[in-house]
Amino acid sequence: MFRADLFDVHGSWFNRCMKLIRAWNIALILFFTAVSAFAQTAMTVDVDATDAARNIVHSKLTIPVKPGPLTLFYPKWIPGEHSPTGPINDLVGLKLSAGGKTIAWRRDDVEMFAFHCDIPQGATLLDVALDDASQPETTASAKLARIKWNRVLLYPQGMSSDAVTVKASMKLPSGWQFASALPVASENRNEFQFKEVSLTQLVDSPAIIGVNFRKLSLASADVIHEIDIMSDTTQALEMKPETVTGLRALVQEAYALFGARHYRSYKFLVTLSDHGGSEGLEHHESSEDGVGEKAFSEELELLDFAELMGHEYAHSWNGKYRRPAGLATSDFEQPMRGDLLWVYEGLTQYLGKVLPARSGLWKAEDFRDAMAAVAADLENQSGRQWRPLLDTAIAVQFTYSSPRAWMNYRRRVDYYDEDSLIWLDADVLIRTRSNGKLSLDDFCRRFHGGQDTGPAVKSYTFDDIVNTLNEVMPYDWRGFLNARVNAVNPHAPVDGITNGGWKLVYTDKPNTQVRIADHARKSIDLSHSLGMLLKEDGTVMDVNPNLVAFKSGLAPGMKIISVNRRAWSSDVLHEAITSAKSGTTPIELLVENGSFQETYKLNYHDGERYPHLERDSTKPDALDDVIKSRIRR
Ligand SMILES: [Zn+2]
Repeated sequence: MFRADLFDVHGSWFNRCMKLIRAWNIALILFFTAVSAFAQTAMTVDVDATDAARNIVHSKLTIPVKPGPLTLFYPKWIPGEHSPTGPINDLVGLKLSAGGKTIAWRRDDVEMFAFHCDIPQGATLLDVALDDASQPETTASAKLARIKWNRVLLYPQGMSSDAVTVKASMKLPSGWQFASALPVASENRNEFQFKEVSLTQLVDSPAIIGVNFRKLSLASADVIHEIDIMSDTTQALEMKPETVTGLRALVQEAYALFGARHYRSYKFLVTLSDHGGSEGLEHHESSEDGVGEKAFSEELELLDFAELMGHEYAHSWNGKYRRPAGLATSDFEQPMRGDLLWVYEGLTQYLGKVLPARSGLWKAEDFRDAMAAVAADLENQSGRQWRPLLDTAIAVQFTYSSPRAWMNYRRRVDYYDEDSLIWLDADVLIRTRSNGKLSLDDFCRRFHGGQDTGPAVKSYTFDDIVNTLNEVMPYDWRGFLNARVNAVNPHAPVDGITNGGWKLVYTDKPNTQVRIADHARKSIDLSHSLGMLLKEDGTVMDVNPNLVAFKSGLAPGMKIISVNRRAWSSDVLHEAITSAKSGTTPIELLVENGSFQETYKLNYHDGERYPHLERDSTKPDALDDVIKSRIRR
């Protein structure tokens, strides 16, 4: 809004210039007010995580200061979350002092993440004490925790996070272990001292701690690649040999795809817990992967885990190293712009399916079921009639937290899945037009590869994407992307599937990805038959306004009590859908809406319908080429 106000105002050139000058003056005054009291030496962050199992982490900071006004800032815009999601409500117990004397603070009246104070004459060091009181089942369980540095610190507002240097330490609960990409300077029993790093690197290097720990090397090369696992139980740490083989292949396949790495070492920081919260957050040299306790043993959870590994790992290149200009902010205060998230998340979503398939963590059928589920969901999404895909990315500040009710009509974070279809389309197009000589891999090597480097950020614009695609294969890529991303499209972009030699079909056989989603959210997905998504207890989570459930009167929040006069169960509903196929009698649902009950008749006779891909032998199988291993050729 600041820029729009600045440049779109009515009035003369003079007025606009004066506004520009005033804005710059205000910005400069703010900057110098913020940093004048901050001296250029390292701040310290000493974290006491001994109470992590009780969801509270204590932190003590020292910040070198000079006398005068100072504003401290709590990280607000969190990299990878693309939103102002810093958990400010979890910051408690804030106390400031210098030389043992308390210093009063006042929160900014408008910017809730900023705290003003006045450093007294003679003070050179500000002491800050605060606690991170996280919500149960979000970052910790009784046996493990994820420690995120952005949750346990304040820094001088207005400073670039590259310019702030930090010396950190962490104390663990007795008997707990530790893993992080943050370089350790020294270690004594359960206390770790870390090397001095920039605030950028600190926040990019979270830790996992826990009672049950397993570390596995994933590469024989000189560059360390490892998976560090904390779990609620020792049994959960057991990994099948083929999973280990697949993860090792994943590391090699990614290097073969991109042709270079941009990290000094890489650690998959995995937590296995049904109570420690789920997570999937990318960093340059690590990823936070919070999954369920049975992620290594339960078939569906293992398939889901493989995709998470592929996705977060690909982000080290696509997202951390190459980052849209609007997301490459200099601190944790500048608002991020999400308009290119269809590259940041969309291409990663595509690679997050391709890499597990190339690595053997997924079978070819798993990849095809994943693309089929995505294509069917997006084709049957009523919100695409009004909302361009781009808008779901621009609106990122609230699309992640979009409520489930009416999601089919609203759309949600579609720059993930819909863009995986668009990148498949681009991949198949390049493969087909170059007779198999080129592919999207060539784009990735040009765009994300180059020389091996340490962590770095190379920002890009829409034009950079178009230009690099044109370097790989001249084509109207600008038109291709504009039509698919910026315009309202009543149909999903499924050309990658159809030109790749496959057809989207519906059968009564459950789709693996649908089963994975139902297992994870404890739901019953009838999106492509009755047109609704249910909780296991029969509560309607969402409906498709174009299909029979909504047209018959159902809506989110209602709860199915009985099906054809039999008490609710998912089996009874599935049986009713199947038996209605051979008759003309409608399916009768007794439904509760608040304290009232009503009967609805659903005239539906097409049976169970789940999406799959069926081979079209008139065209070559490009999808098979997409998922062919690069390391076993
Ligand atoms: Zn992502």
